[in-house]
This record gives sequence, C-alpha cells and structure tokens, in this order.
Amino acid sequence: MGMACASPDRSRGCAVSAQRTNPRGLPGAKERVHHDAMRSRTPKFAALTTIRGRDILRVRAFGVELASVWHSGLVCHTGFFVHSRFSRFAMKSKGLFRELARIIGEDGVLWRQEDLMLYEYDALSSVRQPDVVVFPRKTEHVVQIAKLALRHDLPLVARGAGTGLSGGSVATEGGILLVFSRMKRILEIDLENQRARVQPGVVNLDLSLAVADAGYYFAPDPSSQKACTIGGNVAENSGGPHTLAYGVTTNHVLALEVVLPDGEVIHTGASHWDRPGYDLTGVFVGSEGTLGIITEATVRLSRKPEAVKTLLAIYDQVVGATRTVAAITARGITPAALEMMDGFCLRAVEEATHAGYPMDCAAVLLIEVEGLKEAVEEHADEIEAVCRENQAREVRRAKSAEERDLLWKGRKTAFGALGRISPNYYVQDGVIPRTRLPEMLEFIGSIEKKFDLHIGNIFHAGDGNLHPLIMYDERNREQTARVGKAAREIIMRCVEMGGSITGEHGVGLEKSDLMPLIFSAVDLELMGRIKNLFNPQGRLNPGKLLPTGKMCGELRGGLAGGGPV
Ligand SMILES: Cc1cc2nc3c(=O)[nH]c(=O)nc-3n(C[C@H](O)[C@H](O)[C@H](O)COP(=O)(O)OP(=O)(O)OC[C@H]3O[C@@H](n4cnc5c(N)ncnc54)[C@H](O)[C@@H]3O)c2cc1C
Repeated sequence: MGMACASPDRSRGCAVSAQRTNPRGLPGAKERVHHDAMRSRTPKFAALTTIRGRDILRVRAFGVELASVWHSGLVCHTGFFVHSRFSRFAMKSKGLFRELARIIGEDGVLWRQEDLMLYEYDALSSVRQPDVVVFPRKTEHVVQIAKLALRHDLPLVARGAGTGLSGGSVATEGGILLVFSRMKRILEIDLENQRARVQPGVVNLDLSLAVADAGYYFAPDPSSQKACTIGGNVAENSGGPHTLAYGVTTNHVLALEVVLPDGEVIHTGASHWDRPGYDLTGVFVGSEGTLGIITEATVRLSRKPEAVKTLLAIYDQVVGATRTVAAITARGITPAALEMMDGFCLRAVEEATHAGYPMDCAAVLLIEVEGLKEAVEEHADEIEAVCRENQAREVRRAKSAEERDLLWKGRKTAFGALGRISPNYYVQDGVIPRTRLPEMLEFIGSIEKKFDLHIGNIFHAGDGNLHPLIMYDERNREQTARVGKAAREIIMRCVEMGGSITGEHGVGLEKSDLMPLIFSAVDLELMGRIKNLFNPQGRLNPGKLLPTGKMCGELRGGLAGGGPV
C-alpha cells in the first residue's frame, strides 16, 4: 500500500514535505532524555549514535567496527561479516565491497547499517534494506556494477530520488541499490530542435529551470518535481497536473541509453527522427526498472505558451465541482490542468501554505488554460460560465504570476500538508472515466462511513485520476487494517467502473498482485516473456510490477504489514 512519506530520500534533502508529524530521525524530548541516559552508560570502547530515533551502540576495537547493537536489541551485526539478514550478499560481502570500491571508489559505496537505513524505503511504507548502496558517476560504472552483480548472482535495483509511491525502489531481496544522485548532469541542450540529453539523476524541475529563460520547459510535472528524477519519471511513466493537455512522460521521451542486467549497453529511439522497427523506448518507459537501467535520456522540451490563465472555482457542494469537470470537456475545451481538492484537504493546505484558498467551502477546482492570448481569454470565459452553471459560488482568476505560483504551490505540496494533521495517511491512486466522478465521490463518502475513517480527496480530475487520502495512525493496528480494506474497496470500484489500478504512481511492489484485475492471463504471460527476455534471471528489481504470488503483507511495517491490498 502506498503512503506519502516524510522526505523519501533524506540523503538528498528532498523537498517533499512531511508525512509524519514527528518525522523519524528527529527525536522528541522523551527520546532525548532516554538517549542522554544511554550515553552516560556507554563504555569507552563504544560509541552511541541515534538514527531515526533508534539508539545504536557501535563497538569498536583496533580501529574496526565489530558490532552495532540496536538499543531494542532486535538487530545486531558484526562488521561486514555477520549481517542482520543472511542474504546472498552477506556471505561474500568483504570481497564484493572491495570490488565495488575498485569500480567507483570507496566514497561511492555505503554498507553500514545506519547508512543503509536511509535507503530501506521510498514513499511507500514498506521497509527492506539493500545490502549495499552505490553511487555511479557514469554509464561505465553501471556497466561494471551490472557485470559484478551478474557474476555474484545479486539483485540490482535502480533508485532516483526515492519519491515513488508504490515501493519501486525498495530492494525487496537485498542486493545492490544503484542510486543516481551523482549522475545528474544535463549533457546537452538543443533549443533549436527542442531536445535535451540528460543523465538519469537530473531532478525534474532542474531541467525546466535550466531552459526557462529561453522560453522552454519539460512538460511532465509530477507534484514531486522538486525532488524526483528524470530516470524515475521515465521508469514510472509519470504524469502530473498538466498531463490532461500534454500527456505523460512517454510522450516526451525520444531516446534512451540503457544498461541491461548483463552489462550490455543498448540505445533505443533517436533524437531527431522516428527509428523504424519496434518501439523499444516505449517498452522501457514505465517498465519500473525491471527491464534495464536507464543511464541517459533524450527528452522533448516544450515551448512555454504565449498566455496562461489560472482559475479557482469554489463550491459549497462537492457534486457541483465533479459535475463541472465532465461539463468542461463536453464543451470541447481541454484545459491544460483541471485539479480538484475537497474542503478537508483544502483546509490543511491553506494552514500549511497560506496560498489564499477559502477555508469554508466543500471543494475547489484549480483550472488552467494555456495557448494564444485571444483563445485563452475566450476559454477562460467559457469555463467560468460552466463553473457557475454548476453552482460554483465564486470563480477567481489569478491576477499575477506570483498568485498563480502560490495556488500551484498549495496543490503540489498538498500531500505534505496533510502530514501535519495525521500521523500517517495512505494515498490511493486509481483511475475512472471522468464522467463518473460524482458517483465515485459518493462511493468514497460511503466507504468513509463504513470504515469509520477520514478520507480527503485530491484528484487530477480532468483525466479521472483519483488520489483519495486515508488518514490513520499506524500504531493502531485495528485502524490500519480498516484502511487496507477501505483502500481495496475503492480500487475495486475503479476497476468495476472501467478504470485502472493506478493512474501514475505505478504498480511497483504495492499493486503487482492486483494486475490480474485489469489484465488477462494471456496478457500477463506475454509481459512475463518480455521481462524474461531483458531480465532473464529476474535479478533486476525483483518482486515488482508483475504478480509474484507473494502479497505485500509479507513486508514488515506500516500498512503493508497490516493491510490486505
Ligand atoms: C508528494 C509526492 C507527490 C507525487 N506526485 C506525483 C505526481 O503528480 N505524478 C506522478 O506520476 N507521481 C507522483 N509521485 C510519485 C513519484 O514522485 C514519481 O513516481 C517519480 O517519477 C519517482 O521518481 P524518483 O526519482 O523518486 O524515482 P524512485 O522512487 O527512486 O524510483 C521509482 C522507480 O523507478 C525506477 N528507477 C529509478 N531510476 C531508474 C533508472 N535510472 N533506471 C531504471 N529504473 C529506474 C526504480 O527502480 C523504481 O522502480 C509523487 C510522490 C510524492 C512523494
């Protein structure tokens, strides 16, 4: 089950805001008192550190770390030789560490328990540790590491910023985690041909900022764009608020350089023409790191529109907002973005961002139209009329770029804002035909009552992509189990309505066992054959995307441990 997480990749200082009211790693007063007491009892040959609120006693002798003992006493490991789990890696770790260090240098390898903890989850609440984390700087490093993993039969998992909401970059079977935070160079910008060639670790927003002054941008804009990487976007085929008009990532990727699990490098697509033959770029986009490791991407840059108008339609009843969505597109207008937030989420967002959202309404629509100046004015007037026909109490227009940015800031940081009011929440990601939004909202309301839970609603309404956010406290196991059931009923309803189990957060680890709901056995078998072709031993990102037969309930921690989905 997916859950927006505090700061998925703390090591990168990710800008995504908090899910937990007391984020792990920031001990409260009680923890500090306990820690001080522990410190006073620590013997001289040991050192006490606190990582994510847990005390670790590191015992050293002759300059070597012999053991790390967690204060809970649950986990202990000795240097590099005895690991907390008996993984394939643990058996050979010392030699492997040396080999990895030879390839990328010692500063490119992390293996200590406390370092690995930073990489044991993404924005999903499931927890599994890799055995080693490596930071390649160039394609050749990835090639060498892939060959090494092949020789030693180790799992290999790629990771961008770790903002994924379906557990895609969690190393479910341990092994080597390749983190792309040191491959973040924009290699080439070709404005005349509207192309950019980038390394996979480039942060989504950084690419748009790099070409902004010249009047260009990279269109896919996930709400996590301040942190997530182009490699992650390609692997997840990510969308965002502007997907309605500009499509998802696949519509903006022209060519890829990919390292296969045996270390072979292939090039797909082309930056200037359509290559004949099979569309291998399309095969890799959305493959969630299960077919190959993306080491370079050539992407399309879009020209900024001449004019933009941002409208905020305010409703006293949710149904008015949902009816407006279908009514706008029925008039033949395709806004660039058409987002919905209900009153519950709005209040949390306004308290966190002071973006100017009303505190007393049932829902708002954030609507954006772009294009030529005259057309934009005309469409904005038409949209305003549709909103009023559907009982909008007020329709505001952003008067300046600052006001527009503030409204979007509120929308894009909404998940984080909800983290201020609930210890945990689960983000569902489903799709339905947008004409059925009113019916779906009613259904979610009935689920809220049935399971006695609070559910906030934030939708990419224009393309029928729902994100119901279910509030809970993971310390309450019984409530956590109810959240799992509620989330499952919502996703089943999406499927019954002719929709999908995910709109943009991907399948990952979380929803692989739901794939048979939308694909036939024949479809799945064919996908399995494609996977086997590129990833014959299944070592690349194991346990993701395709059904494994193992439920995610087998993972420890949070909803995944308690919820049935
Ligand atoms: C607050 C918040 C808001 C979000 N909003 C959106 C949204 O609006 N739209 C949306 O689509 N998603 C959204 N997401 C989900 C997430 O940000 C996207 O899926 C994003 O594309 C993940 O990028 P990442 O760099 O963090 O990838 P990671 O989470 O690190 O990895 C995601 C997947 O990509 C694979 N991968 C990463 N790099 C590579 C590579 N170089 N080669 C091969 N595989 C690779 C990983 O193995 C994993 O399977 C949101 C997440 C959060 C926390």
